[in-house]
Amino acid sequence: MRLSLEGRVALVTGAGRGIGKAVAQTLAAAGAQVAALSRTEANAQEVAHAIETAGGRALAFGGDVADPSTVETVIEQTLKHWERLDIVVNNAGITRDTLLLRMKDEDWDAVLQTNLKGAFLCSRAALKPMMRQRWGRIVNISSVVGLTGNAGQANYAASKAALIAFTKSVALEMGSRGITCNAVAPGLIETDMTQAMPPQAREYALQRIPVGRFGTPEDIAYGVLYLCSDYAAYITGQVFVIDGGLTVGI
Ligand code: NDP
Repeated sequence: MRLSLEGRVALVTGAGRGIGKAVAQTLAAAGAQVAALSRTEANAQEVAHAIETAGGRALAFGGDVADPSTVETVIEQTLKHWERLDIVVNNAGITRDTLLLRMKDEDWDAVLQTNLKGAFLCSRAALKPMMRQRWGRIVNISSVVGLTGNAGQANYAASKAALIAFTKSVALEMGSRGITCNAVAPGLIETDMTQAMPPQAREYALQRIPVGRFGTPEDIAYGVLYLCSDYAAYITGQVFVIDGGLTVGI
């Protein structure tokens, strides 16, 4: 047994940038055929092109992960091309940060739709092929704030905590079918999402990270790769915190 995904087919949502892009490229480098879904089709295409240039195989899809017809099409097309679906990485996520008193209904709904409903739609659609194959891996990208909460992120933290409960429930339902479901909880990772932080907040955060740096998208992708591999067959319903020690001692 080796850490290879040869012969596996993976769907990665939010694959156009940041963590999702690194996950798509890392799974492809390990041998998986990757369906890359991103809101902006050009971003998905760019990632698929990079995977193919590196010798891998990829399909690109543009669309909203919270739209049932988009998800249906993506899964249908992936199965049509590759006849199986082994791995789903629910990574697409957004923030609409503000204090609760000022939070608009749209801020709440948009975050819950993308971060939680998107994962529900993709996981549910993937279960049928996974059950047929008696093998499957679902990895939900949560966040350390889903464990700790965060001022100014009530919507986002609630969506990420809900993803953890979703993960555990799917793990309980699917364990006997050869399908595992785990969550990854990243700390502060260098992507467009964290570039938006004010410099003082970045400096303050940096001081609280024991390993002394923000994470890279690849730091998360390697953890996801492990959970998708045969080596992780006995791990399910867990939260894999990858945060450079940020939450240790909290
Ligand atoms: P980015 O903002 O850098 O990228 C988000 C990706 O998700 C983009 O490719 C974007 O598409 C896609 N996306 C957003 N909304 C949708 C949607 N409705 N449908 C389809 N695709 C969508 O985010 P990160 O890479 O930083 O974050 C990835 C995940 O990791 C998120 O779930 C986030 O919550 C989580 N996370 C990130 C942390 C961090 O420090 N960065 C920390 C903890 C968790 P497009 O490119 O087309 O716009």
